Amino acid sequence: MAGGQTPKRTARYRDSLHIRLSITLGALIFVSMMVSFTVLSYFSFEREITTKRNALRGAAIVFSAPIADAMAEGNRGGVQRILTGIGRFDEFKFASVFDLHGKPYAEVGYQAILKRDNRNLEEEAFSNFLLHNDLWVEEEIRKSGSVIGHVRLLSDISSIRSGLIKNLLFTLAIAVGSSLLTILLLMRSIRLLTQPIRTLSSFMQKVGSTQSYSSRTEEKTKGEIGVLEHSFNEMLEGIESRNDALLDYQHTLEDKVADRTQELTVAKNEAETANAAKSEFLATMSHEIRTPMNGMLVMAELLTTANLQPKQQRYADVVMKSGRSLLTIINDVLDFSKIESGNLDLESIPVNVRTFSEDVMSLFWQAAQEKQLDIACYIGPNIPTEIDGDPVRLNQVLSNLVNNALKFTEAGHVQIYIEQSPHASSSIRIAVKDTGVGIHRDKLGKVFESFVQADQSTTRKYGGTGLGLPICKRLVEAMGGEIGVESEPGHGSTFFFDLPLNVPLEIVKKPDVQNKRALLVMPSSATFHVLKDAFERCGIDVVSRASVDQVKAQEFKVDYVIARTSDLLTLRGKVWAQYCVALTGLGEFTVEKLIDEDKVHDLINLPASSCGALEVAKRLLVEAPKAKALFGDTGTRDNGFASFKGRQILVADDNPVNREVIVQALSRFDIEPIVAENGLEALAAFNQQPFDLVFMDCSMPEMDGFQTTEIIRQRELEQKKTPTPIIALTAHLADKIADQWKDAGMDGIIVKPFTMETLHQGLMKWLDKDEIQTEIKEPNLATQNGSSTPQQSHNLFDEQALDNLREILGDAFEVSFNKLLSLYQANAPVLVSQILDGFQQADAKMVFENAHALKSMAANVSASTLSNTCAAIEKAGQDKNLNSAQLELEELQRIHDQLMREIDSRLKKQDSQTPLFSEAS
Ligand code: ADP
Repeated sequence: MAGGQTPKRTARYRDSLHIRLSITLGALIFVSMMVSFTVLSYFSFEREITTKRNALRGAAIVFSAPIADAMAEGNRGGVQRILTGIGRFDEFKFASVFDLHGKPYAEVGYQAILKRDNRNLEEEAFSNFLLHNDLWVEEEIRKSGSVIGHVRLLSDISSIRSGLIKNLLFTLAIAVGSSLLTILLLMRSIRLLTQPIRTLSSFMQKVGSTQSYSSRTEEKTKGEIGVLEHSFNEMLEGIESRNDALLDYQHTLEDKVADRTQELTVAKNEAETANAAKSEFLATMSHEIRTPMNGMLVMAELLTTANLQPKQQRYADVVMKSGRSLLTIINDVLDFSKIESGNLDLESIPVNVRTFSEDVMSLFWQAAQEKQLDIACYIGPNIPTEIDGDPVRLNQVLSNLVNNALKFTEAGHVQIYIEQSPHASSSIRIAVKDTGVGIHRDKLGKVFESFVQADQSTTRKYGGTGLGLPICKRLVEAMGGEIGVESEPGHGSTFFFDLPLNVPLEIVKKPDVQNKRALLVMPSSATFHVLKDAFERCGIDVVSRASVDQVKAQEFKVDYVIARTSDLLTLRGKVWAQYCVALTGLGEFTVEKLIDEDKVHDLINLPASSCGALEVAKRLLVEAPKAKALFGDTGTRDNGFASFKGRQILVADDNPVNREVIVQALSRFDIEPIVAENGLEALAAFNQQPFDLVFMDCSMPEMDGFQTTEIIRQRELEQKKTPTPIIALTAHLADKIADQWKDAGMDGIIVKPFTMETLHQGLMKWLDKDEIQTEIKEPNLATQNGSSTPQQSHNLFDEQALDNLREILGDAFEVSFNKLLSLYQANAPVLVSQILDGFQQADAKMVFENAHALKSMAANVSASTLSNTCAAIEKAGQDKNLNSAQLELEELQRIHDQLMREIDSRLKKQDSQTPLFSEAS
């Protein structure tokens, strides 16, 4: 009944309780009387038959004696007379005598004998007597102990049978009568007994139909019905009070709604206040993090514009790009709520697939190396060079997946795949496959939920917040794509995301067979597959050996051999190849020497990508290997720093990237340091030759920097040698290990990451100045008491631009340049304040125009860094996206102030004619 009332139900009279109970009991009485009387009648019938039979048998025995005498005499007439005598008794209907052979001898009866056979009369069952009126008995006739015949007597039992029938009829009449009487009596008494139930039932009906829950039934009955009445009254009471409460609630609901609204308003205000506090906290955090990041980025950017050699340029690019991407990620994580609310600003610009993937791999190369994991990127042959997308977000998603893959993999490799999506030809799939711990099937669906980690032990072992994948999911979805994962515990995971591709796929041609053979020496892993595939894509036949030992078993004559640098050296004399290609990772120096000696002709940088390997394969095919061109003359000294040529310097650091950084940095001062990878190696080197200066990493395996220094100092004391300056090179904050380095006997400290300026100052301070060959620029920052405070001093002027200017201005350079500087000094501050006003008033046009003017003015005085910064601000103004240039704005103010101070001092010195920019170098 859908919402309607239950139909009213009344009981029919014949269904009423007293009728049904009375009839049932009457029927029971009838049945039981019938059964018991019938059984009794039957027993009485049986008894009468037995009595009758015994009497008959007695008579037969009595008569058998005279019959025996008569038969012995052969007196048939005598026998007949005896039988006739028997026939006079009423109860005998028939009597007969049979001789020994069963033949009738004599008989008498009122009726003809029907059955004269010899059946066994004793066996007749009682039930048979219900069906006929005859009762037979038979007795033997004996003479002198011998049986000479049989006598049979038949009696009529009809009176006994009719007695039985009468009995039964009488029983039926009594049973029917008693039952009817019982029913009548019971109907009356049960009706009286069930009266309270009927009263309660009709009361309930009345309550149900009138919905009047205030009435009560009279509680006058005892026993169960009394309890029922009481319970019903209680139930009514409950319903009534609930109804009252509901009515009351209904009446006061409005007041309550008003109260709740008030409470909610207060709670909402409190939440808003808390949210505002959170936002403020996030803003402060963001600012605090961004400030040091800013310094780092500026330094990195300066480095990238410093005319570096290709290899160094790549390192600097990676540093700068990684820093930028880190800054973006910090912003994103701090601004997770922004992503949550879907207010994401996505760019859509061409993204170079190779650069994008290689940048991410470079970021994680060091981490992979530390865990001895291989990492490589396969790029499908039909993937276009550039795809449209948001480079920062793509980088963020891929970095997150690679980071997780490395985190959850202990052995094997991590491989990036960039291929056409298997689901749609118009989509690209970027996948990260690892050979790590994998994820259990029932956790797979949850890893993209915020703060979810597949395994609780994960946090303990690997850390993490469980926010990375949810951010990825939202970013990918915002880019119109889909993210997913396939994994099996113990067999690694593949995280992938499909993105719509709005540029056509490349058409893949079958490669021309080149008749060239390359030997690839490395174990089967991610890099191996990427390299093999790339060379085969160029039509080069690739043979492979997992290790140098396997190559040694036979000699190889191939066109190209590709192996790790150290393996290439071992392979000499076993493998004859036109070109040797070295696989080099960051922090490997030996290759440069090999290039100089013409033992290595080209390089594949690790981590490898399909595109990088293809480029090398193509170069080899046209016989234009490029190693020399890439490295050039390694001895060229960069402008702007003093030369310390010939000075013996020892660098001890266990981290290859740090080693690379310090070695490359020192090369700018014409220093070729001896490199040690731990304290023991440093001691060994120290024993072999004297050094002018030692840069010592503090935490190293085998023996740390403090211990090493203590031993060196001890030896110097014993050998009465002048102490060699030892500088701590540390990633710890200077004050954290303030006493430790001094206690160990070190002379100073440089905190990593250091700037060129800091290093410059250190070298100036600790190396013998008299021996410095060329001093380009007076260091204007003093290193205080060994503690390194990297101060923001930039190459304000671009040397190359100055050279151009010199060329243009010729002999009048000094005078004209000073004139340009005074013009800058007079006009630039106005432009800078206009730009600042523009930012304050969010006036993009104002920012754009003034930044444009300042950009060309700065370029005219060769202040390239400032000019580049202005260009970035100009673009932000043009794109009406001033927020994106906050960093550049801070940078602009700082560089501008510095430049103004520089110009001021330059113009003040004008009279003394001191040249600021040396022609040297
Ligand atoms: P977290 O900061 O905890 O790594 P993520 O959102 O990036 O946060 O990852 C969530 C969880 O997903 C991880 O804690 C880990 O349990 C699981 N996970 C992610 N990537 C992998 C992977 N490559 N292999 C195994 N488990 C992974």
